[in-house]
Amino acid sequence: MSAARSESVLEGLRFAIPDSFPSFTPIQSPDTDFYWRGDGTALRMLTCNACGKITHPPGPVCGYCYSRDVAPKQVSGRGTLYAWTVNVQPFVPGLDPYCPAMVTLDEQDDVKITTQLVDVNNDEIEVGMPVEVVFVNGSDGVKLPFFRPVR
Ligand SMILES: [Zn+2]
Repeated sequence: MSAARSESVLEGLRFAIPDSFPSFTPIQSPDTDFYWRGDGTALRMLTCNACGKITHPPGPVCGYCYSRDVAPKQVSGRGTLYAWTVNVQPFVPGLDPYCPAMVTLDEQDDVKITTQLVDVNNDEIEVGMPVEVVFVNGSDGVKLPFFRPVR
């Protein structure tokens, strides 16, 4: 009975904020370092100076008006849980179950950030819940933007 097994694996799961997450290191690039290698206190998103829209994932031109006048800009770090799942397969040895998620930003709800949901119990998670960014240390100075429920 696979359904019963899945329920038992998920029961009581809590996704804590990890001390670090060294198994993912984005390539260093001046086009994306503002996102991955900030100071760990504020989320920065590539924003168009011509139309004001956030373009994500970042690129050399605005995804809305094609202007090249784009630059990183600090955002609130608050958003809404758009989608989530639970991974229990340890793709990396020792990997605990985790909660891959997509979050929309309060500043622009068509921006979807692929992330992890942390500091939450499995049975508390609901699409539409308000969330806020929390940074987790990766390797090589990376600060990974994960999200947790707003409490
Ligand atoms: Zn634009």
